[in-house]
Amino acid sequence: MSFEDIPVDIGVVYEGERVRGKDMFVELGGPKMEQKFELAIARDMSEVEDEKIEIIGPDLKDMEEGSYHPLGIVIQVAGEQIEPDLEGVIERRLHEYVNFVEGMMHLNQRYDIWIRLNKKSFEKGFNSLEYLGKVLIRLYKSEMNIIEKIQVTFITDPKVVGERYDDAITRYNQRDERARGLSDAEVDTFYGCSLCQSFAPTHVCTITPQRYANCGAISWFDGRAAARVDPKGPLYAIPKGDTIDEFRGEYTGVNQAYTEKSLGKVNSVALYSAFEKPHTSCGCFEAIAFVIPEVDGLGIVHRDFKGDTVNGLPFSSMADSTAGGRQIPGFHGIAIEYMRSPKFLQVDDGWNRIVWLPESIKERVLEFIPDEVRDKISTENDAMTIGDLKTFLKEKNHPVAERWVDLEDEVTMVADEAGSDYVSVPGEMTAMVGGIGGGLEIVFKNAKIYAEKVIIRKTGKGEKKK
Ligand code: SF4
Repeated sequence: MSFEDIPVDIGVVYEGERVRGKDMFVELGGPKMEQKFELAIARDMSEVEDEKIEIIGPDLKDMEEGSYHPLGIVIQVAGEQIEPDLEGVIERRLHEYVNFVEGMMHLNQRYDIWIRLNKKSFEKGFNSLEYLGKVLIRLYKSEMNIIEKIQVTFITDPKVVGERYDDAITRYNQRDERARGLSDAEVDTFYGCSLCQSFAPTHVCTITPQRYANCGAISWFDGRAAARVDPKGPLYAIPKGDTIDEFRGEYTGVNQAYTEKSLGKVNSVALYSAFEKPHTSCGCFEAIAFVIPEVDGLGIVHRDFKGDTVNGLPFSSMADSTAGGRQIPGFHGIAIEYMRSPKFLQVDDGWNRIVWLPESIKERVLEFIPDEVRDKISTENDAMTIGDLKTFLKEKNHPVAERWVDLEDEVTMVADEAGSDYVSVPGEMTAMVGGIGGGLEIVFKNAKIYAEKVIIRKTGKGEKKK
């Protein structure tokens, strides 16, 4: 495969390259744009004009340095073995292939795409999306030989992006719905994806019927179709093996796949927990489930939520601490579709443990939240501080409020012979420290705690003892 006619280098070596704001020539999609998408569509052979590249709207050379633009990318493919179940997998390869371009960064997926081109590559002559189209066509055809015909369309005209956006969302929803209805217990094979290991070397997505891939772009059906037509590709079958614990989602086959694919760094995973041996998180997750230790609950924030969450941190700060292919108890990357699953964080008490999430996400998954807890989960309209959150949860009688311990009865301030104050902990007390980077449980047994200042928050009323 030759890229001699492309003015910049193309190769795996550029995957993981970041384009910072100061180096950026243009940004396509991204958080500043309301509407953006990338979409693969399986077509009949007669419907695809092979190797056609179309640009609707301004091309790179027409854009001002430092400017922001909406973007739609549509990849139409045909071939004897091409079927709709492969659309998600073909679409997801865009993440890999766009990142092969020197000076180009592609983040996220579906309706969340974020692409930047740096000034250096633009100055080298990469000044048209036509070049990107050629690169994509060559990579797709050489790496996925089931693709016999391919046509690429880039849309940067805001009006046309808007017109096509709704169709893209409808197609994503149809794919997700197709994947519902099958349970993890009914299958003996899950699917794994290691596509994100270029960014997070120990990350493995285990895709089950009831646990969507973290990026929200690949369902169990997509995984099955991809593993069948391209068994040497980044998606592969994971035989479940023996069941260690069905409720927690622990299987010998899954553990074995993690051990092999993470080169021994991750050996054991509970698929339905955010706390104990959680599924690894790369950096492509659609949302984060994050512990709020003050209320012993979990908040959820998605990539597009602007500003700080209820714990005072934005998505980006928590994403840095969650990503990297690690298992961070209490900081857990998830897909929005996983929130619609009956298995959703079931080890952690599922929806009964969720205390806060953005209104827009709540609306999207509303019918999947059990009736009895639906109105007890706060959004940014109900609480934006921990104090307000506690008040809200208490008033609504949220299930987590039942877990709160009345520390007043257990902890007393006393003075020793030297007159120093200390906190006396009779019996056993568990304190949860849930700072960024991971939750930590500290158990005190018959302890005396000396410190310049000790703050013990009595959950529920926001009172403090010092
Ligand atoms: S998030 Fe998971 S399924 Fe999605 S591309 Fe990355 S490794 Fe694959």
